[in-house]
Amino acid sequence: MLTRRSALALSLVALIAPSRAETKKIPVVASFSIIGDLVHEVGGDRVSVTTIVGPDGDAHVYEPSPADGRRIAKARLIFVNGLGFEGWLERLIKSAKSKGEVFTLGNGVAARKNDEGQDPHAWQDVANAKIYVEAIRDALTTADPEGGQAYKANAEAYLAKLDALDAEIRQAIDALPKERRRVVSTHDAFGYFASRYGVEFIAPQGVSTEAEVSARDVAKIIDAVKSQKVAAVFIENIADPRLAKRIASETGARMGGVLYSDALSDAKGDGATYVDMMRHNVKQLAKALAP
Ligand SMILES: [Zn+2]
Repeated sequence: MLTRRSALALSLVALIAPSRAETKKIPVVASFSIIGDLVHEVGGDRVSVTTIVGPDGDAHVYEPSPADGRRIAKARLIFVNGLGFEGWLERLIKSAKSKGEVFTLGNGVAARKNDEGQDPHAWQDVANAKIYVEAIRDALTTADPEGGQAYKANAEAYLAKLDALDAEIRQAIDALPKERRRVVSTHDAFGYFASRYGVEFIAPQGVSTEAEVSARDVAKIIDAVKSQKVAAVFIENIADPRLAKRIASETGARMGGVLYSDALSDAKGDGATYVDMMRHNVKQLAKALAP
């Protein structure tokens, strides 16, 4: 006979036990939301993706929790950006004693470099996102050969979408007058976008958000905005908007809305997927830079 307590325990087990289908899924961890979305696109329902730095989160300065360690410990595959983006990650993986295989997607692209080191924001160029997707497809296929056909088909369909996205961005930016394609963002996250699509970005903060912005940096940007006819100043979803607002108010430049730099929006926002976030950014740029 079941006691009251064991009956309760049984019903709790029924509630929290994962379904059979769920237990068969390959546990995968992505370091931040954008890679999480790409893995989801390629892995489909064969993988269970957990993202460490979620929507609107800043991966440069993230502080991992014990729960993150537990997720990493259970993962079979761990997809990260690298190029100096997630400085906290190596320690987390070590301390979690994870046996999961780590794939550093940024290692596959031609990285931009400046005085501060490598620029991690490779995903801002859709051609690089395609390289990430191909690496994810190959990694999943090696880990789960049975799913190879599915990963191939998912990747093929998604890569076609990315080709269309790339063409769409190019077309939208090409339609803007060249002399207006100069904007300010908060941190230097758009170097890859700038070089592929032809919009110049200037930013008071470098390629990481770790360093404090000095008064001198801000003064320099304000001078540049005034002398170089910057069309608009943009806020980023991961950054404090006050700096951008101050630059706009001190220079009279137009405020250009929010750009998704290093993270997706939540599910209700207009940048909930990589494709949506890039589309949103281009729309914001086109709106602010149209004559
Ligand atoms: Zn960044």
